[in-house]
Amino acid sequence: SGDLERAWRLMREVPDFPEPGVLFRDISPVLADAEAFRAVVYGLARTAPDADLVLGIEARGFLLGAAVAYACGTGIVGVRKPGKLPAVAHRVDYDLEYGQATLELPEGTVAPGQRVLVVDDVLATGGTVAASSELVRQAGGEVVGAAVAVELAALGGRERLAGLNVHAVFTV
Ligand code: IMP
Repeated sequence: SGDLERAWRLMREVPDFPEPGVLFRDISPVLADAEAFRAVVYGLARTAPDADLVLGIEARGFLLGAAVAYACGTGIVGVRKPGKLPAVAHRVDYDLEYGQATLELPEGTVAPGQRVLVVDDVLATGGTVAASSELVRQAGGEVVGAAVAVELAALGGRERLAGLNVHAVFTV
């Protein structure tokens, strides 16, 4: 659609962030534009019509996830970096390209048997979505899909998440 083309044009590429040699995809201008934002949100919301809960990953996944949840008529859960939550239900440590990261699921959110859609801005190696999916499973939920605004295809996230229904609005 025209609005998705508009979103595509609004995406920014920032060289050498967060470190030299990395080309960072920045969706901030897309989120700031009413038509582009709506087109991307509806694109994400189509991923798993049977989801009954959306999980957004800190921090840009919160912005998209909440809008997707509203569009789908579900609740929203924020998966957080460590030290932010007053009550942690589950915690997963995972490897990044350099170093380690941790994500935490708030208590009182994902219930056993719930069908969960995981939402984030960018899929790179897939480690973040894999860790978030693990949190859902630890809580007894089922991940019915992962929806991202941008997939960086060369980094192999889709292959790493084999078996998961992965949907990207844009693939670069
Ligand atoms: P992964 O775990 O390697 O798939 O990295 C994905 C996570 O890192 C997501 O939470 C993204 O927000 C973030 N990320 C990785 N690369 C980019 C990028 O180019 N732009 C924005 N976020 C990125």
